[in-house]
Amino acid sequence: MNATKTASLIDSDLQYLATHFETRSVEEILTWAVPQFAPRIAMTSSFGTEGIVLIDHLAKLGIKLPVIYLDTGYHFAATEELKDQLQERYDLEIVIQQAELSVAEQAQLHGEKLYERNSDACCRIRKVEPLKQALGTLDAWLAALRRDQSPSRANIQIVEWNAKHELVKINPLATWTRKDVWNYTFKHKLPYNRLYDEGYTSIGCWPCTKKVGDGEHERSGRWAGQGKVECGIHL
Ligand code: SF4
Repeated sequence: MNATKTASLIDSDLQYLATHFETRSVEEILTWAVPQFAPRIAMTSSFGTEGIVLIDHLAKLGIKLPVIYLDTGYHFAATEELKDQLQERYDLEIVIQQAELSVAEQAQLHGEKLYERNSDACCRIRKVEPLKQALGTLDAWLAALRRDQSPSRANIQIVEWNAKHELVKINPLATWTRKDVWNYTFKHKLPYNRLYDEGYTSIGCWPCTKKVGDGEHERSGRWAGQGKVECGIHL
């Protein structure tokens, strides 16, 4: 889809589409979205359970889509293993997007363990800027966010304009609950990150991800104690 066509879609239809798809299935959303924007559409994922549910839907619909993986240099080994497993299972086209600075170069320039002293700066270097680069040539971005993941995600729309990256963002799982995601995962015997079985409920970079206690919110283990709930890529 070219820029003019995208702009006319946004001007006239975006709000309508958000309302229209609110009660539609993931299959219906994907069946509309991918042909509408292909080939300038991609998904981002660090292979959380939601991302795998979306990948499974795409595969069942026979839709091929690049999956952008922000390789921060700080992912758990379990996440890397899962990535390889998914690549093989779904014949995924995984686009590995890395920061301009390696972990070692970042340490040289900003000191060791920047994530402990200034996690916003670390996330900017390792996630936000690489994502900006990856999305730069796209008209649409598919993400596996849910509204009930955190208050910062409570108002996401199924189809919405993302002003930061100037593209349409599509959140087919916006209305799904955590329970819905796990029910689908078990029903369809999907692979998932083994760290979930060890007490993690949301998995990001290892320095900023902790296990969560009973009754705690699922994203409370991310940047625990820092008053931070998002790395910045979805803000
Ligand atoms: S989540 Fe932590 S380690 Fe990963 S980029 Fe952000 S601050 Fe750095």
